[in-house]
Parts: sequence; structure tokens; C-alpha cells
Amino acid sequence: MFLLSFLILCSHAYAPQTAKWEFKPNIVVCEGSSVKVDSIKAATKFWEDKGHEFGTIEYVEDCIDYHSGYILFVNADNINNAYAGTCELFDYSGVIMSAYIEIWDGARSDLQVIAHELGHALGYDHHNSKNNIMYKNATETNVYIKR
Ligand SMILES: [Zn+2]
Repeated sequence: MFLLSFLILCSHAYAPQTAKWEFKPNIVVCEGSSVKVDSIKAATKFWEDKGHEFGTIEYVEDCIDYHSGYILFVNADNINNAYAGTCELFDYSGVIMSAYIEIWDGARSDLQVIAHELGHALGYDHHNSKNNIMYKNATETNVYIKR
């Protein structure tokens, strides 16, 4: 009975999670992203409070050698006007290898948007509650993130 309830609790994670990192991902802010390291630190704190761990967070001028094992904040050249941010996740059989986050310039200090995209980088899908940072429109959530 205990085992059963444990399994049920596990299936109700913060939001649906489709993939996971095997190791603590390092975060790199590539030249061209307008997001500040301080904003990312505040957003990672939100996920650390939920039990996630990250490696280093650093600004890098040339990201060409940074792929596997990294969450990269890259320039928002490919972003569609309808989105404040996007995250492209690369995983192999459910193990995340790398994630590329683009934040629209107008949302570069928006901690809800940054935390939401970091959630995708951790493998989380959307959640249907506005009380969850993974609600499909991050700017409409009721979740407050401390700076
Ligand atoms: Zn999303």
C-alpha cells in the first residue's frame, strides 16, 4: 500500500515531465542573448526550491563549443512574435542532452518567462493551472518569482 501511494505521488510531479537530465546541467548565456545572469539565477532558485539542481551559470562570448550538457540562452533571432520565449529540447530516449532557450528582448527581465522556459529545459510540459509556472502563457500565471 505504501509503495502504491508513493508511485501515485511520483506521477503527480510539478507538471508533466517528458524527459530528464542525467547530470546537473550547466547554464551558459551566449553572446547575443540579452538575458542577464542575475535574472537566470533568480529563475533557477525557483526550480532549486523544487529539488532541481544546476551546475555553473556563466556568460560565454562564443558558444560554438557548448552543446551537450548545457542549457544555452541564445539570441532570439528565430522567435515568433507570438511568443515571449521558446525552448528547444534535445533528448535521447528521455535523457536530455541539451536545451536552447530564446527569450524575446522585451521579456529579457521577465522572471516568469525565464523560469517557464527553464522548466521546458528540465523536461516539463505545459500545465493547465495558472498557479503553475508551466501554464501555457507564462506571463498570465499567478506564480511570483523573487528577484
Ligand atoms: Zn511553454
